[in-house]
Amino acid sequence: MEKIHRSLLEENLVLFEGACGTGKTLSALVPSLHVGKQLGKTVFIATNVHQQMLQFIDEARQIKRTHDIKVLVFKGKMGMCPLKQGYDECEAKRDNTYDLMEIEKEINLKKQESKAAWDEYKSSGEAAHASLRDAVDEEREKLEEKASSLRKRSCDPLYEVLRAEDEKFQKWLFQDVRDPEEVNDYAAENGMCGYELLKRELKNADLVIANFHHILNDMIFSTMLRWMDKEPEDLIAIFDEAHNIENAARSHSSITLTEHAIESALAELNANEKSDLFTSMPVEDVEAVLSILLEVVRDTYDNRFKFGERQRVGRNWYDIRISDPYERNDVVYARFMRRMKETGYGEEKQVQELLGIAAEVGGLLDNAYHEQYKQGQTPILKRSHLKPTAEFFSQYLKLCNNENYYPVLNVRRDQGGEIYGRLELFTCIPKNVTGPLLDSIYSAILMSATLRPFV
Ligand code: SF4
Repeated sequence: MEKIHRSLLEENLVLFEGACGTGKTLSALVPSLHVGKQLGKTVFIATNVHQQMLQFIDEARQIKRTHDIKVLVFKGKMGMCPLKQGYDECEAKRDNTYDLMEIEKEINLKKQESKAAWDEYKSSGEAAHASLRDAVDEEREKLEEKASSLRKRSCDPLYEVLRAEDEKFQKWLFQDVRDPEEVNDYAAENGMCGYELLKRELKNADLVIANFHHILNDMIFSTMLRWMDKEPEDLIAIFDEAHNIENAARSHSSITLTEHAIESALAELNANEKSDLFTSMPVEDVEAVLSILLEVVRDTYDNRFKFGERQRVGRNWYDIRISDPYERNDVVYARFMRRMKETGYGEEKQVQELLGIAAEVGGLLDNAYHEQYKQGQTPILKRSHLKPTAEFFSQYLKLCNNENYYPVLNVRRDQGGEIYGRLELFTCIPKNVTGPLLDSIYSAILMSATLRPFV
């Protein structure tokens, strides 16, 4: 423990092995919390195994008996949302809820203005005050109509969180070490969203216990930091079962694009051809890029199937090799560029420009869809397929022949038994994920019962 403590003070990375039941958790936690308190850092434990999370909660409870630490066990939205909403639906509901709160504030102000005008009228008898009150009441009624429409599309559990005082939940949460189920029970009893309650308290925690993906996924990690009101250098990270990092990092760096997504992007292009949003985009050229990509993906797996292989494709993804592990020369890339040239397009640079414009226009479409959903014009929140398709393919073209990445074509059968394909690009070097992360945080402890992947 002393060695770990010293290493942390020296901002070193600590790597240690200990068999199960030898007290690894406590040996990592105690010095980290001590250094955290001394230097004003937050300790962030990342684990991938549910059983280990329970172990951490248990150890944290023991420490809590003698030390005043604030512990927060964080769980993803999917496991916490009482309405079982997806990420985007939740975002739209959240926006509506915030808008609703604002409008309700305005309504209250109007009520006060109306009362003041009426009081003036009663004491002065001047008709102008009565007219003012009527005008204010009219504005209030319009706002109330708007609020009533927003209320149908907002999130009640979040609304309750926003109305509640922070202190009550905060006091309850940090009185003990609460697991997410307890938080959900508390939230349900109070008609609230447990996820939102936890999010609000992240900035007050000394110790956060979360999942690997909360720190290994770049986007999620930045969001967590924002909620914690911290910079990466404010964190001491403890990676439990650290021998799993390699796989976890890889799974967070793999990007994919299905044939259906390309079809949807093409359909979106056709459906919005005449939209004002598309005026800046050479629709025909973008359509050519996506159509050729779709054709190449289909031709590639059709041509690559060996005798009897097609029949073996089932409902699970089946990998088809499209690139030599040493030489590279990605087949999809080569075919795509050849077809583009045959069709009269130039070099990769031109394709990249078209993809850049398509991604930008896709972003505008996303904003428009979001607004439509917010206004209640669409019952579900639509997402642009153009943007992720263009972004994926742009990355793919840049990286498919880079030695640190590896492209694969996967195929499987859909519900109707038809085969369809998916392009996948994953990084062969988990260090691409872990390197920048470990460089950016204050220090880290990687512990495991087996150091095998590291030696
Ligand atoms: S704010 Fe909470 S309850 Fe509302 S949709 Fe999002 S996760 Fe669900």
